[in-house]
Amino acid sequence: MDTGLKGKRALVCAASKGLGRACAMALAREGVAVTITARTADVLEATAAEIRAATGSPVIAVAGDITTEAGRAAALAACPDPDILVNNAGGPPPGDFRDWDRDIWIKALDANMLTPIFLIKAVVDGMVARRFGRIVNITSASVKSPIPTLGMSNGARAGLTGFVAGLARQVARHNVTINALLPGPFLTDRLRGTTAALAAKSGRTLEEEIAERAKGTPAGRVGDPAEFGDACAFLCAASSGFIVGQNLVLDGGAFNSTMG
Ligand code: NAP
Repeated sequence: MDTGLKGKRALVCAASKGLGRACAMALAREGVAVTITARTADVLEATAAEIRAATGSPVIAVAGDITTEAGRAAALAACPDPDILVNNAGGPPPGDFRDWDRDIWIKALDANMLTPIFLIKAVVDGMVARRFGRIVNITSASVKSPIPTLGMSNGARAGLTGFVAGLARQVARHNVTINALLPGPFLTDRLRGTTAALAAKSGRTLEEEIAERAKGTPAGRVGDPAEFGDACAFLCAASSGFIVGQNLVLDGGAFNSTMG
C-alpha cells in the first residue's frame, strides 16, 4: 500500500518509548519527517537516533512535558505546521476514586483530555487551509470497556472522545480526519510496570503474569507496539480521508461484541 505520506511532517507526542515511538517509527518509514517529544531528554535523543538510522527520515527531538503549556509551545515551535498530529501522553494512575481530590483529577484531565484538545486547536486550522490533515489520538480500550481500577483514564479519555466525535465531523470536508486508536494490552514499559505490580501480588514472575494477560485475549497474546504503529500509519495515509471519527480497538479481540 502506498500511503502517499512521503515528505509530510508529523508531530508525535510522548514518543521516546512504547506506542508513541512505534507510531513515529512507522510514519518515518513512510518518509514522514517526524518531531517527537518526551520528558527524558537522553532517552528521547536515543530514540530519535534509532528512528533516523532505521528509516533515513529527518527526526527532531523536543524534550518537555507535553501536558504543560511550555511543553506544547516547544513542540509546536519545532513543528509549527504538522500534516499529522499523534496525541499521546502517559496514562493516569490506578486507584479508588474516593482517594482522588480535584488536583489529581485536573492532572488526569490535563494529560488525557485537554492536552490533545489544545494541540488540535493549535494545528487544525492550518490543516484545513492546506486541505490535508490526519490527527490520531492514542486513547485506550477503556473508552469502550471501562477498567474498574482506572477510573480517571475511563473518564478523561471518554471526555476527549466525545469532544472529538463532534469536531471530526466539522473538519472532514477539508480532508482533515480525526480518529482514535484504542490499545488493549501492548508490550511496552507501561504494561511491564503495571504487570510487575500484579506479579508482586500474585507471586508469579513477570513473564508468567504477561502470559496470564495474553490468555485474556482471543488472539492469545499481547500486542507488539510495531503493529500499533502500522495501524497509525494506515489511518494517516492519503487514502484514509474517508475514515472519520472512528475509534479503532486494537486488543486481539478482547472487547467482546458483534460489531462496533
Ligand atoms: P510507555 O511505554 O510508558 O511510554 C510512554 C511514553 O510517553 C514515553 O516515551 C514517555 O517518556 C512519554 N511521556 C509520558 N508522559 C509524558 C508527558 N507528560 N510529556 C511527554 N511525554 C510523556 O507507555 P505506552 O504503553 O506506550 O502508553 C502510551 C499511552 O497508551 C498511555 O496513555 C497509556 O495509558 C495508553 N495505553 C497503553 C496500553 C498498553 O498496553 N501499553 C493500553 C491502554 C492504554 P517520558 O517518561 O520520558 O516523558
